[in-house]
Amino acid sequence: MNEFERRPSGLVLPPGRVAKRFQGERVHRVAWKIVRGLYFYHFRKPLEEDAPKHLEIVPPGETPPKSFFVLSGTENHGRHPGVFDYTFGTYPHEHNCNYWAMLLWNRIIFTMAFQAPTCGCAECIAMFGTS
Ligand SMILES: [Zn+2]
Repeated sequence: MNEFERRPSGLVLPPGRVAKRFQGERVHRVAWKIVRGLYFYHFRKPLEEDAPKHLEIVPPGETPPKSFFVLSGTENHGRHPGVFDYTFGTYPHEHNCNYWAMLLWNRIIFTMAFQAPTCGCAECIAMFGTS
């Protein structure tokens, strides 16, 4: 419980809300490691460690990004959904976009967009960067 702050940097949060700080780069690296492992499990192809990708973290109670809802109707793959669940979609005609969503402890959503294989067009470089 000491990890949660009621008044981060002196800010007064709405009732019932707390703040949790995390190391963004570390969370990003771990999320990508999980996706790479599960991607290999499903497709038997490795993803480059330094492939362009985009992570979004949706805190409990927040509305996920619009792109998240493209996954509605896809199959959930988690074996212990209350702890960890995930789903994904593959969109070859959308610049080889892969879009994954992970649900942690039934509360926190991670979404990860990446290309497999990478596209390299100007639009994609603008969206994902070069690494
Ligand atoms: Zn592209």
